[in-house]
Amino acid sequence: MAKETKVKVMKAPIRDRTFAERAYLPEIAKGLRITAEHFWRNLFVHIGRLFGLHTKDKGSVTFQYPEERRPFSPRVRSLHRLTKREDGTPRCVACMMCETICPAKCIYIIGEDHPDPNIEKRPRKFDIDIGVCVFCGLCVEACPEDAIRMDTGIFEISSYTREGMIYHKEDLLR
Ligand code: SF4
Ligand code: SF4
Repeated sequence: MAKETKVKVMKAPIRDRTFAERAYLPEIAKGLRITAEHFWRNLFVHIGRLFGLHTKDKGSVTFQYPEERRPFSPRVRSLHRLTKREDGTPRCVACMMCETICPAKCIYIIGEDHPDPNIEKRPRKFDIDIGVCVFCGLCVEACPEDAIRMDTGIFEISSYTREGMIYHKEDLLR
C-alpha cells in the first residue's frame, strides 16, 4: 500500500494595517515624498553632469519612446517569421515539431504534399496565435530546417480583436 505523504502548506501571516495606512493621507504623502526625492535627485545629477560633475552617477534615464528606442540584445526574441528558400517558398516542411513542442499550443499547421518530389511536405496553413504565445523560443529551437525565427525586431504587436492577433503564413513570410 502506497504511503500517504502529507504536504504542509505554509501561509504567510497577514499583517493588520496600521492606523496611518488606514487613513490613506499619510501614505499618499509618503509616496509623494519618495517621488519628489527621485525627481530632485535626478534633476541635480543631470545638471551636474552637464557641467562635468557627478560623472559616476548616471541618474535615471527615460527613453523618449517611440522616437527613441531602447537598444535590445541581439538574442532578444521578437515577432516570428518564416524563412524562405531561394525561390521564395517557405523552408518549412510541415514536420509539426514546432507545433508539438509549443507549450502554449498556439501554432496551427496543416501540411500538404510538396510539388517538388525531393521535398516531402509544405505548410498549406501555418498560423501562430501571438496573443497566446509566451515567446519562449522553443519553436525556433525545435525546427530542424531553420524555417522559423524570432529575429524580426518587431515588438509592437497589438490588435483590437483576438482574431487580429493570429498571424497567418502570408504574414509570417512577409
Ligand atoms: S515562442 Fe514558444 S509559445 Fe510562442 S509559438 Fe514558439 S513555442 Fe509556442
Ligand atoms: S517551422 Fe520548422 S519545426 Fe515547424 S513545421 Fe516547419 S519545419 Fe517543422
